[in-house]
Amino acid sequence: MKTLASHLTGAWIAGDGPAATLVNPTTEEPIAVAHGRGLDFAAALAFARDRGGPALRALTFAERGALCAALAKAIHGAREELIALAVANGGNTRGDAKFDIDGAAGTLAHYGELGAKLGAVRVLADGEPVQIGRTARLVGQHAWVPRPGVAVLINAFNFPAWGLAEKLACALVAGMPVLCKPATATALVTHRLVEIWAEAGILPAGALQLLVGPAGDLVDHLRAPDVLAFTGSSDTARALRGHARVVAESVRVNIEADSLNAAVLAPDVELSSEAGALFVADVTRDMTQKTGQKCTAIRRVLVPRARIADVVDALKERLAGIVVGDPSRDDVRMGPVATAQQARDVRAGIARLAAATREAFGGSGEVSPLGVPAGKGFFVGPVLRTTDDARGCEPMHAHEVFGPVSTVGAYDGDAHTAAAIVALGQGGLVASCYSDDRDWLGRFVTEAGGWNGRIYIGSEKIAAMSAGPGTALPQLQHGGPGRAGDGAELGGARGLALYMQRVALQGDASLLKALTS
Ligand code: NAP
Repeated sequence: MKTLASHLTGAWIAGDGPAATLVNPTTEEPIAVAHGRGLDFAAALAFARDRGGPALRALTFAERGALCAALAKAIHGAREELIALAVANGGNTRGDAKFDIDGAAGTLAHYGELGAKLGAVRVLADGEPVQIGRTARLVGQHAWVPRPGVAVLINAFNFPAWGLAEKLACALVAGMPVLCKPATATALVTHRLVEIWAEAGILPAGALQLLVGPAGDLVDHLRAPDVLAFTGSSDTARALRGHARVVAESVRVNIEADSLNAAVLAPDVELSSEAGALFVADVTRDMTQKTGQKCTAIRRVLVPRARIADVVDALKERLAGIVVGDPSRDDVRMGPVATAQQARDVRAGIARLAAATREAFGGSGEVSPLGVPAGKGFFVGPVLRTTDDARGCEPMHAHEVFGPVSTVGAYDGDAHTAAAIVALGQGGLVASCYSDDRDWLGRFVTEAGGWNGRIYIGSEKIAAMSAGPGTALPQLQHGGPGRAGDGAELGGARGLALYMQRVALQGDASLLKALTS
């Protein structure tokens, strides 16, 4: 069986100690192992700081952007191979796998272009210079420079390619070397990506290292200018944020965690309209794409009370057409969840919801997957629950069920009521609302905006061209307050800030101008 080595201090190192086994979630067959012991994290971090950091800081933004563009190109060259790995190790359908892999390539390409736009400079101006002396000769200029440490990127199991790329692109263009750690259970895609990039010799030594397997004492070796960028569950996030070393050294931390994303139908939208069809399509896609294992997926659906039966009927009709089974088959639309633990967690989440809601579709997730031997695989079918009282349904707002599960709840149609119910999720990555009523939207966005990192407005005029709320775009911020971790990634040039230090420069106006242009 394949052993996944880590790529540390310039070499592939297999490690030792107990093996973590990666399995195919469709067949439950083991496909690879990883060993997390016997890896010298202190040396790896030093290698990044001493070799990777100086090499990247010697480059301009444009040159670092070119590295991202080359990484994106290398993904295109290996696309089919990566898709096959995502199907085997992640339970992805081909469409799910493309979403992850093309998302990674697109994000890297976007940051390639951004680096080129920032140009042949190493110091980035932040705003305009301000006069601080008697004459305009003496000015102050805020500026961004790379943090002289290492960015440790810890990712969740659901996006082994895109999850890495969105952090990596920002860190590299900013000028920080990276040590990445994918979730062990689905590490095959990340491992192969790093292997492909290493074989292509794109990056300077020390600019990208890979840990496959448990984190061990990695975090104990972080220090002041380092960055810890984490995506995963709130529980792990809490432990990392409070880690003694992180606190003592003021290591900069960015958290992307759980989110109970809501979709709100406003009273002005008829289901038969284009905006209404968009709403139904978005909810269906988010429930079933990647088997609901998207941090941005719609978990809560708020519908004016009088329309709830129509909405439930429309969603039931769509969900009935989702074929669940072996994701390598072309006729299958939804595969298994990624791990046995995931399947147990999702079923426990359905049971919690069942205690407070009515069944609308899918029972407790039992399904007979197409093309899979009986009893095999981590399958949970799409499950839709419903309640007449969205505000009073506590489990709907309290627990993220990370699978193909959503709850439709009734509200009174008022924008402020909808925003207040959205806020019961205690902070989310994205909320979507479907309306063409400017007054309703203004009231909703003002109240709900503070609880969400992004608000997606589905309306008549954009219905035909929308990718839906579940796609994290490199141009727009990804991350949200509260439960979602209060982090921020992407957002074009804003995404670089995590990996850079803002420094206020004071001096001669022409000298400062030369430094930043
Ligand atoms: P997880 O169990 O918290 O694991 C996330 C990552 O943290 C994995 O790489 C894991 O490694 C690592 N890890 C676990 N314990 C650690 C420790 N003590 N020190 C350092 N690293 C540690 O989360 P998950 O099950 O993979 O992901 C599901 C969750 O991620 C969901 O709640 C979802 O909402 C969230 N998510 C959020 C976003 C977002 O952008 N906000 C995106 C995707 C997913 P091992 O695999 O080796 O244990």
